[in-house]
Amino acid sequence: MKQRTVLISGAGVAGPALAYWLTRYGFQPTVVERSEGQRSSGNPVDVRGEAMDVAERMGVLPRLREAATSVSGMALVTASGRRLGQLPVGRPNGAEVEVPRADLAAILYDAAREHAEFLFGDFITALRQDADGVDVTFAKGAPRRFDLVVGADGLHSAVRRMVFGPASGYVRHLGMYVATLQLGYPAADPGTVPMYNMPGRSVSVHPVNGNAMAAFIFRSPAIPGLDNRDTAACKQIVLDAYRGGGWELPSLLDRLRAADDLYFDSVSRVRLPAWSQGRAALLGDAASCMSLFGNGSSLAITGAATLARALNATPDDYATALRTYETEHRVRVRPAQRGRLIAGALLVPATRAGITARDLAIRLLARPPAPASPRTQQNTKR
Ligand SMILES: Cc1cc2nc3c(=O)[nH]c(=O)nc-3n(C[C@H](O)[C@H](O)[C@H](O)COP(=O)(O)OP(=O)(O)OC[C@H]3O[C@@H](n4cnc5c(N)ncnc54)[C@H](O)[C@@H]3O)c2cc1C
Repeated sequence: MKQRTVLISGAGVAGPALAYWLTRYGFQPTVVERSEGQRSSGNPVDVRGEAMDVAERMGVLPRLREAATSVSGMALVTASGRRLGQLPVGRPNGAEVEVPRADLAAILYDAAREHAEFLFGDFITALRQDADGVDVTFAKGAPRRFDLVVGADGLHSAVRRMVFGPASGYVRHLGMYVATLQLGYPAADPGTVPMYNMPGRSVSVHPVNGNAMAAFIFRSPAIPGLDNRDTAACKQIVLDAYRGGGWELPSLLDRLRAADDLYFDSVSRVRLPAWSQGRAALLGDAASCMSLFGNGSSLAITGAATLARALNATPDDYATALRTYETEHRVRVRPAQRGRLIAGALLVPATRAGITARDLAIRLLARPPAPASPRTQQNTKR
C-alpha cells in the first residue's frame, strides 16, 4: 500500500509532535521550517494535563523532566528591588513541568527526526489542491506533491493565509506584546521568578536551568506594519516602552540592545470557524492561539496526537478525519480561550492604582517574602 505523504509547515512544538505520531501510524511526513535551525529564544512554557500523557507515550517525559525548571514561586519586586510578596507556583507531584520552549521544541524534534524528513531554511510559497492531492512550491526546494498539508506554523501561519485568507479575518490583537531573551548569565535564584511592574508593563526574570531569561510583557495597541522578524525595530519598541523604569531594567535593556535572538510577538487570539479546507488543515497556534494565556504548548501537543490518531482511523477519508480532529480538539481549546482578562490584569495591571490593588491582594494571599538575593541586593544600591 502507498505510504501517505503529509507536508507539515513549522517545526515548533506542534509540527514535530505531529510528525512523530504520523510516522508511528505509517504515514510519511515532511516538515518544512522557515528558520535555518531551531531557535534558542522563548520563555519557559508549561506542559500539563493530557499533554503529559501524550509526552509519556512518546517516550519523551524523562527528557522533559530533565529539562524542567525548578521554579516554585513568583516574587513581586519594587523599583528599588524590595520584595513585596511571593506567590507559590504549584506543580503538584510532578503532574506538570515547566520547560524552556526551545528545549521542548528540540526534544520533540529529536523524537521525530529519525523517521520524518525535516527541511530547515525553506518555506511554502504556494499550494494548489485537487481531488487527489496538493501541489506545493517552495522558496528553495523543488515543487512536490503531497496527500495532505498541515499548517503548524504558529500565530502568523502562512498556510492559514494561503488557505483561509489574510490574518485580519481571524487574528485579534489582545492589546499586549511580549518579548523574551536569554540574558547570558545565571539566575540569582533558581526557584523564583522576580517580577517588576510599571503601569501597563511587566518585566520578569525566569531562571531557566541555570540561565536567566527576561520576559517583557507590555500593553500597546497593535503597531501597524510591524514585522516581528525585524529585530532592530522590535528592540526599539521594547526600549521605548520600558524607558525610565527601575529595578534591574537598565541592565536588562543593555542586554536587549546586544541580543542576537529576541522573541517578539503580539499577544493575540486566533479563532477560525473551521480548521481545514479540503486537504489543508491547521494545528497549534495557527488554528487556535491564545499567546501567553492559553496553554498553547500543551494544546499543540494534544492537538497533534489527536490529528494523527484521526487520520490513522480513516486514512482513506481525510474529510472525516479532519472533522473528527476538530470536534475532539475544540473541546480542549474552548476553555483555554477564556480567562485571558484575569491573567492579563494580574500580570500587567494597566495603572499605578491597579498595581497597588494587585500587590495588596497578593500580599494578603501570599507567604512572607523570601530574603533578597545577592543580585537583588546589588541592584537595590543603584
Ligand atoms: C521563537 C519562539 C519563541 C516563543 N516564545 C514564547 C514565549 O516566550 N512564551 C509563550 O507563551 N509562547 C512563546 N512562543 C509560542 C509558543 O511556543 C506556542 O504558543 C506554542 O508552542 C504552540 O506551538 P506551535 O508549534 O503551534 O507554534 P510555534 O511554537 O510558534 O511554532 C511555529 C513554527 O513555525 C515556524 N514558521 C513560521 N512561519 C513559517 C513558515 N511560513 N514556513 C515554515 N515555518 C514557519 C516558526 O519558525 C516556528 O518554528 C514562542 C514561539 C516561537 C517561534
